[in-house]
Amino acid sequence: MGQTKERTIESKLPSTGVSIFAIMSRLAEEHGAINLSQGFPDFDCDPDLVEAVARQMRAGHNQYPPMLGIVALREALSRKIERLYGRRYDPATEITITSGATEGLFSSLTALVRPGDEVVLLQPAYDSYLPAVQLCGGRPVFVTLRGTDYRVDWDEVRRVVNAHTRVIVVNSPHNPTGMVFDADDIRGLTSVLERTDAIVVADEVYEHIVFDGRRHESMARHPDIADRAIVISSFGKTYHTTGWKIGYCAAPRALSAEVARVHQFVTYTVNGAIQRAYAEWVDRDPLAEDVARLYQAKRDHFLQLLEGTRFRPLPCRGTYFQMVDYSAITNERDSDFAMRLLQEHGVAAIPVSPFLTDAEPGPVLRFCFAKRDETLERAAERLRKV
Ligand code: GLN
Repeated sequence: MGQTKERTIESKLPSTGVSIFAIMSRLAEEHGAINLSQGFPDFDCDPDLVEAVARQMRAGHNQYPPMLGIVALREALSRKIERLYGRRYDPATEITITSGATEGLFSSLTALVRPGDEVVLLQPAYDSYLPAVQLCGGRPVFVTLRGTDYRVDWDEVRRVVNAHTRVIVVNSPHNPTGMVFDADDIRGLTSVLERTDAIVVADEVYEHIVFDGRRHESMARHPDIADRAIVISSFGKTYHTTGWKIGYCAAPRALSAEVARVHQFVTYTVNGAIQRAYAEWVDRDPLAEDVARLYQAKRDHFLQLLEGTRFRPLPCRGTYFQMVDYSAITNERDSDFAMRLLQEHGVAAIPVSPFLTDAEPGPVLRFCFAKRDETLERAAERLRKV
């Protein structure tokens, strides 16, 4: 028997490694570290929601749901978006339920980007945008967020937009920085859009996690933007169910039709029993306010705990991530320091460099504070010794 020779495959994503979230969570487990890296709560979701899913399954809702999603859920979302942001999306033609925001983003970018098209990405950029653009043969064009509060320089965005720009991806509240768009950002984006036919792909998965009385500037609020935007969100962050992986895209009919064309061959449809349970929950708002209150209290608790450490917090206006400057501790690169923090001090964090493509990382790490108070307190005890 001859030896089989291993085939080499020319990768379509040669520079994409394993996601930093997977790496850090695995290492945290291996080293018994407190995991403030990957963004997920260490507390459970509402047991009634679990019961509602079980009830739907027991009632026999166990076969393929409609391709665009359960009608009751699309109707509930349409009502909710209209109530919160003032725009009505037709549940029959303008809302697509996807397998998490990740699939919503992937299906949207795949539907829009052709080889050679340019896609504006604001960096630090959430890790799933770039590979989706690359798989389509698109050309990413990066604009770097500036300062310790990571503002968008809309003049720079205006300078990079040209006739080849197909999509501008925006993300507010922003992962990893905690930056939140305000009225100036909406003015900036609106003025950029006056010079281009580009479509806006808006990642709004943290729409309900906005602090200190700010309002979430959903693209759905602003008709000039919403007319050419795909607004993407996820139930995972709002209901503490990141593992259920259900999200949605809301967009005007023509754009929605293109998203659906791709969605039907990426996943076709997503877990029906969970969609039915969410339909009941979405109609029960104002849960959104409770989520903001919960995480604002956690942010404040974590900030107080950080006071006893040499980590300097940066502004956090939304999301469940706190960025910290560690320059008072070391001049190590962020990924090296994150590794040492995990191995020597037993706390897992996320370095910012994996979110950057052509910019230098600063001395900054991201901690996730979607954790029980006791977890945050144990972590702080360790961080005080760093
Ligand atoms: N969005 C989560 C985070 O930023 C991780 C999701 C994932 O692991 N892909 O930590």
